[in-house]
Amino acid sequence: MYLFQNRLVPKSQVAVSPDDRGYYFGDGIYEVFRVYAGVLYEPEAHLERLERTAREVRLPLPCPSAELAARLEELIAANGLKEGTVYMQITRGPAPRSHAFPAHAEPVLMAYCTVLERPAGMMRDGIAAVTMDDIRWLRCDLKTLNLLPNTMAKQYALDRGVSDVILHRSGTVTECSASNVMMVKDGVIRTHPANHLILHGVTRKVVLRLAREADIPVRETAFTVDELRDADEVFITGTTVEVTPVISVDGQPVASGRPGPVTRALQQAFERTIPGL
Ligand code: PLP
Repeated sequence: MYLFQNRLVPKSQVAVSPDDRGYYFGDGIYEVFRVYAGVLYEPEAHLERLERTAREVRLPLPCPSAELAARLEELIAANGLKEGTVYMQITRGPAPRSHAFPAHAEPVLMAYCTVLERPAGMMRDGIAAVTMDDIRWLRCDLKTLNLLPNTMAKQYALDRGVSDVILHRSGTVTECSASNVMMVKDGVIRTHPANHLILHGVTRKVVLRLAREADIPVRETAFTVDELRDADEVFITGTTVEVTPVISVDGQPVASGRPGPVTRALQQAFERTIPGL
């Protein structure tokens, strides 16, 4: 079952107008929630980010976020989802094609569940990554449907036989195609500050809190590609990847080329936050 507007319907009954601004302009916003043991993980943080994005792009949410959460819970129950994700998007709705925001468009909400296991192999063994220019706009903090640069970045990685890219602006590392990136040097975690150049990841926030609770020093200051190459550990964070080690960058191993102790400690701390484990 899908959630379409405020109703649970089969996928075949989700009918969106060709005039929908999401289709013309990517004029919409979205969230991806993790579900563990049938329960939404950190729903407040996701909904807060959705509200912020909606406010910044002046897209009225169809209902208060507490109500959205209740509808998502109904969706999860209707699908019997235990382990997976919920994807939700809200577009500005249908209107004749014109750049200006329409005066009377009604937002269109669509959400569905996907069964997804935790990425055990990747989390255990780590992934390879390549660096790439971050060619995105200057509001990467907004979770909008305009993901063409992110899809191009992911494909750039896959075409080179690796899992993901580590993006940088003139040598300053920002994030990955669909996750945040952190490095460890001399026991200190570094990651780009949560400003307009990165998405403020919910997992990033959880991991930084766990690090501080474990007395691991954290510096939210940007680092360069050169510093990344010299890191003791590198890992990415995200709703589906959780805490995944990066073991090589541009074909060169990160330190020993094996996941490091800080990454392992954070993976274990993160697991302890997962309901039902
Ligand atoms: N950065 C980008 C560009 C993303 O698309 C995502 C998630 O989709 C993240 C970071 C990680 O955010 P979260 O931890 O909330 O999944």
